[in-house]
Amino acid sequence: MKKIAFITGISGQDGAYLADLLLSKNYHVLGADRRTSGPSLWRLEKLGIANEIEIVDCDLLEFSNLERIIKKYKINEIYNLAAQSFVASSFNTPIYTSKVNSLGVLSLLELIRNNDREIKFYQASTSEMFGNIKEVPQNENTSFYPRSPYAISKLYSHWMTINYREAYKIFACSGICFNHESPLRGSEFVTKKIVQSLRKIQLDELDCLYLGNIDSKRDWGFAGDYVRAMWLMLQANTPDDYVISTGKTYSVRYFIETAAPFFNIDLKWEGHGVNEIGINKNNNKIVVRISKKFYRPTEVDLLIGDSSKIFKNLNWSNEIDIKTLIKIMAEYEITGNLK
Ligand code: NDP
Ligand code: GDP
Repeated sequence: MKKIAFITGISGQDGAYLADLLLSKNYHVLGADRRTSGPSLWRLEKLGIANEIEIVDCDLLEFSNLERIIKKYKINEIYNLAAQSFVASSFNTPIYTSKVNSLGVLSLLELIRNNDREIKFYQASTSEMFGNIKEVPQNENTSFYPRSPYAISKLYSHWMTINYREAYKIFACSGICFNHESPLRGSEFVTKKIVQSLRKIQLDELDCLYLGNIDSKRDWGFAGDYVRAMWLMLQANTPDDYVISTGKTYSVRYFIETAAPFFNIDLKWEGHGVNEIGINKNNNKIVVRISKKFYRPTEVDLLIGDSSKIFKNLNWSNEIDIKTLIKIMAEYEITGNLK
């Protein structure tokens, strides 16, 4: 009998990579997709797996959807990846963000508690919970100081996951993932925005890339590595929470500088603060400008994870480093090929 995995957020970046991984491990993959006015499964199509997944109509805010699915299938593992996942948007939609990211998770946990406590549960937590960091690098014992409605909503579900594990002995795990990117990353996130825009500038389809705080630093990994960690967490002997990170941090500025040469842009910086500009030395055109519009009311300046626990317990570490990640993302913009 095939194991059944239920992935919420199947249409997102991680949903696609995780589904690919689980199919390769002979799972039957059920993917929750909510109705939208346009096509939503393009990432699965890009990976060539759209026809191998059973799509179920499901909005995390609709308890009845979740209940129907949990009662209908004998699910072994739930990977809860669905979320309003964009920090900047969460400042404009704090209530909606909290409903999906906090109460949506609680609905799933309650359904497991009341229907089948054998189901293993993975919750997609985030390094954003560390926020105004209290320690460098951040590990599973570092105190949290969330700096956005997104991070606060995720902190709620992080603790709820732990509480259901302790109170009801559910195999519930929380993966504290640091930023992870790929060619399938949503185009509003800074890495994808950079490579997509630089390609457009190269093709003369865009004049200039507008960014916010380019000195903010992130611990960026590759999504393909991170979904492997999620799966490993649910195969362990005991449920636990893990930091999933590369242990290295780079600025947004470094990301642009490293990506630019792939698009024949030789970058130099002039000016300071909001007046800083990035000039393409090859033609003296301004290709990067700073816009206050992309600044956040409260920023997370630096994130860097310590993943020694997951390395020690589950033998996980990232395989793709930052330079390779940037290369993969840049080349995808040019060729459109994933593999
Ligand atoms: P994406 O934004 O690419 O995907 C989010 C998914 O959630 C989409 O499939 C989206 O569906 C779905 N979704 C949103 N709202 C609902 C809802 N009400 N009901 C059902 N589905 C919904 O995120 P990622 O794949 O990058 O991230 C996966 C998870 O990991 C998220 O929970 C994110 O917060 C978390 N995370 C991600 C990190 C990263 O760097 N990528 C870092 C740390 C945590 P639709 O297509 O219909 O909008
Ligand atoms: P986040 O870490 O989940 O918020 O991932 P993002 O990719 O959205 O942002 C990473 C960092 O890049 C944050 O510190 C942002 O403030 C910074 N940043 C600078 N300019 C931009 C921009 O134009 N868009 C986005 N999304 N982030 C930007």
